[in-house]
Amino acid sequence: MSHLSELFGSMVFNDAVMKEKLPHATYKLLKKSIATGQSLDLNVANIVANAMKDWAIEKGVTHFTHWFQPMTGVTAEKHDSFISPTGDGQVIMEFSGKELVKGEPDASSFPSGGLRATFEARGYTAWDPTSYAFIKDGTLCIPTIFCSYGGEALDKKTPLLRSQETINKQALRILRLFGNEEVKEVVTTVGPEQEYFLVDKELYDQRKDLIFCGRTLFGAKAPKGQELEDHYFGTIKPRVAAYMKDLDEELWKLGILAKTEHNEVAPAQHELAPIFTTTNAASDHNQLTMELMKKVATRHGLVCLLHEKPFAGVNGSGKHNNWSISTDTGVNLLDPGKSPRENPQFLLFLCAVIQAVDDYQDMLRLSVATAGNDHRLGANEAPPAIVSMFLGDELTEVLESVLNETEYDKKEKINMEVGVHVLPRFSKDTTDRNRTSPFAFTGNKFEFRMLGSSLSVAGPNIVLNTIIADVLEQFADELETADDFKTALHDLLRRTLKEHKRIIFNGNNYADEWVEEADRRGLLNLKSTPEALPYFVSEKNISLFTKHNIFTEIEMRSRYEIMMESYSKQINIEALTMVDMVKKDILPSATSYIKELCDTAVAKKQFTPLATCSFEEILVTKLSSLCDQLYKKTEELDGLLLHAKEHTEVCDCAMFYKNEVFAVMQQVRGLADELEVNTAKQYWPYPTYSELLFSV
Ligand code: ADP
Ligand code: MG
Repeated sequence: MSHLSELFGSMVFNDAVMKEKLPHATYKLLKKSIATGQSLDLNVANIVANAMKDWAIEKGVTHFTHWFQPMTGVTAEKHDSFISPTGDGQVIMEFSGKELVKGEPDASSFPSGGLRATFEARGYTAWDPTSYAFIKDGTLCIPTIFCSYGGEALDKKTPLLRSQETINKQALRILRLFGNEEVKEVVTTVGPEQEYFLVDKELYDQRKDLIFCGRTLFGAKAPKGQELEDHYFGTIKPRVAAYMKDLDEELWKLGILAKTEHNEVAPAQHELAPIFTTTNAASDHNQLTMELMKKVATRHGLVCLLHEKPFAGVNGSGKHNNWSISTDTGVNLLDPGKSPRENPQFLLFLCAVIQAVDDYQDMLRLSVATAGNDHRLGANEAPPAIVSMFLGDELTEVLESVLNETEYDKKEKINMEVGVHVLPRFSKDTTDRNRTSPFAFTGNKFEFRMLGSSLSVAGPNIVLNTIIADVLEQFADELETADDFKTALHDLLRRTLKEHKRIIFNGNNYADEWVEEADRRGLLNLKSTPEALPYFVSEKNISLFTKHNIFTEIEMRSRYEIMMESYSKQINIEALTMVDMVKKDILPSATSYIKELCDTAVAKKQFTPLATCSFEEILVTKLSSLCDQLYKKTEELDGLLLHAKEHTEVCDCAMFYKNEVFAVMQQVRGLADELEVNTAKQYWPYPTYSELLFSV
C-alpha cells in the first residue's frame, strides 16, 4: 500500500466502512443511536457485529477484545477468538451483538480505590460507539467504557463522555440565547502535542533505572547538554527519521492524524503533534499513539521514553493539550473573528473560560499531578505549579475596553519588515507567543501546557469540560431570566472580568517575581502532587462533579486514593531500585577501581621507591570517603522504606515519601554522581549520560 489515501484509516471500522458494509437501515439506526446517545437494539447490534467480524476476518483477524482505559493510565485488553464449535468437531467464526456491546472482564486486579473488594470481581465493559473499532496486532479492538458491578466508573473514558454531554447541554443553552437555533450539538476538540525521548535499546537494557522507573536515577551530566540550543528543530538524524516514518504509517492506518514531527530542546528529545479531533477520539488516539511510539521504537533498536523527566539537567517531556469548543455546523466558538470587541458571543465564551480557570485552579493543577510531572512543573523548563492564563496584548486590551466601557482601538495586522525585498510579504500576528504560560490563548484555542508526557489526556479534559460547563450554566441561568438580554450580558461580562482578572498574566511565568506577584493576587501554588491532590475531595469540587453527574462522591474518593497511592508506589519503586543499584553495582564497581588504584601504587613503589603515588593516594581517599557516605545514605533510605508502611493514611504516606524518602534519594544520587565523575570509564557499571543522549 503505497498510497497514503489507501493507507489512512485502513485498520478502522469507520463511517465509510460502516456505510459500505452495513445494510442501509442498520447504518441509519446505528448513526441515530450514536447521535442521540440511545442504546442500540440487540438485533441491530447483531448485524453490526457480524459486519465488523467479516471485515476484520478479511484482514486476517482471528480475535477480538474490548479495549478500555482503567485507572492505571495505560490501556487494557483481553483477547477472545471468534471461534465457536458447531457440535460436529468443526468451528465457525462468530461474533454476536452481545459480545460487541458488553463484556465481563474479571476486573479484580485493576485499581479501584476500594470501590470493589476482590470478592466482587465482576466488572463490565460496554461499547462506546462514538469511537470507531479498529484492528491492532491482528485483533479487532472495540473501544469500551469500564465500570464495576455497582455501576461505578473504573476508567477514564466514562467521566470524559459524561463531561462532553454536560458541556454540550450548557453551551447549547448559551447559543440559543444568541438566537442560534440551528446548532444541534456542541463538541470540544483536542490536539495533544506529545514529547518523547529515544534512546538506544542496547544501552537502555543495561540500566535498571530506565527499565523499572522509566527515568535515570543516577547519571553525571554530560559535557554537552542543550546549552547551544542546536537540537530544537535541528536536522533529524536518519535513524530517527526512519522511526518517525514508520510510526506515521502505523498511526495513519489507525486513522490517527499524525501531522508534525520535530526535534525538541533536549538532545534525543522529539515531538509529535496530530491534527486535532473530538476530545473522546483524541484521548483514545493519544493512548494508541503512546503505545505505538514504544512498539515501533523496538523495531528500530530504540526505546521510546515517555517519562516526564528521564534525564536530570536537560528538559523533561510534557504534553500540550490544545482545547477548543465547536458546533456541529463547523463554527469554532473560541474564534474571535476579525473584531473580537464586536463579537459578544465570543467574549462570553472567553469570559466563561477565564472564570472557570480562576475558580478551579486547584482542579486544573491536580489534573496533571503525578510523581513524574513534579520534576518539571516550576523547574524553568515547564510552567510553574501556579495556574494562570495568557491572553496576549490584543485580547487583553479588548477585555480592558469591556471592563472600562471604553472604545477599543483595533489593531491592524501589519506587514512584517525583514529588510529583504525578494521575500514574499507576510503579515505579523497581532500577538507574540508566550511559551512560559501554563494556559495560553493561541488564536482560536487554549493550550493547557502543564500536562506530563505520559499522562492520559482524559483527566485534564474531564476537568476542562466540566469547569467550563459549570460556568456556562451559571451564565445561562442568569441570562435566561434577564429582562433585557443585552444589558444583562454587558453587566455579566464586566462583572466576570472584574472578579476574575487576577488569573490573567501575560508576563514571564518562570520569573521569581511572578511567584511573589501570584501570591499577592491570592493564586494557589500547589508545588507537589501530595499537596495538590487533597483539593480533589474538597467540598467545592465534590459538589461541582456530583452536580454535573461526572463523578459520584464515592467515585471521587476512590480516585483520590488511587492517585495518592500511585504517587507513593512510584517513589517506592524508585527508591528500591536505587538501593539495588547502589549495593549491587555502584559500590562493588567503585571498590574494584579503588583496589586497582591501591595495587598500582603498591606495584609502583615495589618497582622503584622513587615513584610518586600522590594521584592514587588522593583518589583512593576521595573515593573511599564517597563510598562510605553513599553506603550510609543508602542504608538510611532502606530504613525509611520500612517506616513508610507505618503511614496508613494515603495522604500522610505520600507526604512521607515526598518529604523524607525523596529528599534522601536526592542525596544518594548526589553522592553516586560524584563517584561516577571520579571513576574510570571501564569500571562504571552503566552507560553514561553522554552515551544515552548522543548515541542515536
Ligand atoms: P504550536 O504553535 O503550539 O506548535 P499549532 O498551531 O501547530 O501549534 O497547533 C498545535 C495543535 O493544536 C495541533 O495538534 C492542532 O491540531 C491543534 N489545534 C488547532 N486548532 C485546534 C482546535 N480548534 N481545537 C483543538 N486543537 C486545535
Ligand atoms: Mg504547543
